[in-house]
Amino acid sequence: MLPDPDATLLVDLDGTVADQLPRVCEYLDTAHGVDITPAEIDAWSWPVPDPAPHAHIGETIDELMQERPEWFLGSLDPIPGAVDGVTALSDAGYEIHVATHRIPETHAVSKAWLDEQDVPYDRFVHDVPANKGRLDGDVLLDDYHANVANALDAGTAGVLVRQPYSDPSACEPAPVADGWDDIVDLFGV
Ligand SMILES: [Mg+2]
Repeated sequence: MLPDPDATLLVDLDGTVADQLPRVCEYLDTAHGVDITPAEIDAWSWPVPDPAPHAHIGETIDELMQERPEWFLGSLDPIPGAVDGVTALSDAGYEIHVATHRIPETHAVSKAWLDEQDVPYDRFVHDVPANKGRLDGDVLLDDYHANVANALDAGTAGVLVRQPYSDPSACEPAPVADGWDDIVDLFGV
């Protein structure tokens, strides 16, 4: 399934390259007294428990992106192995396009973070459609099964980067990577 080494890889950020959920949990704890760990967030519709004033975790994330982008996204830890993994793919000749559903207002913060972390990329896609299958590229690396499913439907290859909320059955037969060691192995770099 692997493409030529000059193929374009569409690389998601949150849950794929950037470890975003610890910051969400930190916010829920300090702002709302909700004590949870990232591993407990097992669906994007995960309901934030009282007394946080949100229906589900996706709304909390939207609010943080809009109101506190620098605090939320400016100093995240990378997912383990991600920086070396993207570097290895880039060095092997793959074209790296960053394709995130973060809101456009946060893209400057995201680019500064990528530079600071030394994550190489060739293009930052500014207007990522809701359906990532509409992106121009050869393989999507993403932690969200619906995005990978959309890629497969469009004839693009996809790799699901497993997180607690990922559902591999929703994007079969995409390979599932349990981390960047698996991704690097998958691409043979
Ligand atoms: Mg993601």
